[in-house]
Amino acid sequence: MKITFLGTGTSHGVPAIDCMLDGYKHCPKDVCRLALTDAKHSRTRSSILVEHAGCRALVDVSPDFRQQALREKIPKIDAVLVTHCHADHTGGIPDIRSYTAKRPAPLDFFGSPETMRSIQSSFPYIFDPNTFRGGGIPSIALHAVTQPFELFGQTVTPLLVEHGSLLGCFGYRIGAVAYIPDVKSLPPSTRAMLDNLDCLILNCLRETRAHQSHLTLEQSIALARDIRPKLCCFVHMSHDINYITDASKLDSWMEFAYDGLQMEV
Ligand SMILES: [Zn+2]
Ligand SMILES: [Zn+2]
Repeated sequence: MKITFLGTGTSHGVPAIDCMLDGYKHCPKDVCRLALTDAKHSRTRSSILVEHAGCRALVDVSPDFRQQALREKIPKIDAVLVTHCHADHTGGIPDIRSYTAKRPAPLDFFGSPETMRSIQSSFPYIFDPNTFRGGGIPSIALHAVTQPFELFGQTVTPLLVEHGSLLGCFGYRIGAVAYIPDVKSLPPSTRAMLDNLDCLILNCLRETRAHQSHLTLEQSIALARDIRPKLCCFVHMSHDINYITDASKLDSWMEFAYDGLQMEV
């Protein structure tokens, strides 16, 4: 299975507009200014592409999906898993139309019942049978899931996680890989599904300052040590994570992911 990190940033992205607006004077670790010349500091909104047996599953459709697809030259998409309804994970859905135009059937989207309802109400024109079916409308079939299902020969297990007060927020386990971009804590039933991982891809928002719906670096490291995958890659990072100076805090089997990183697992 091949994983491509399409985006590794939090909802603001890096560089953040806020930091540009004040001339990068208050960026906590100067990461937004460094991102202008070091691509590994530059983070589009979080998403991964999973390839297996010639099929490609996109996990989340970020507002940066268009530039991610162009950058990685994604040739086709066979299914989409959505973690939750927040805009940094669904804002690129209209751009998926380029991948549905020539398909014989709608593109399958999977997610929690809450997430599927939210997508339907956020983009009503896509699902209105009276909308003119030209090239401007993506052809999508929504599938609400709560239990493990098979996709391209891999078992996909929805992982219910706590992400502030949002209901129906998922991570996904796909074979021996788990992707959890937005999480504050794991219910015990989800923790029990995370043993024997080759790779854990986990939320890491910022260094220390607590957040009500995300893990800090210290909390992400503690959770990763408890789960103990063979490899842990941190994603959904703000400008408060400097992949060079913060690397000393990580264990040898942990790393900060970056946009464009690819790995075989
Ligand atoms: Zn997010
Ligand atoms: Zn900044």
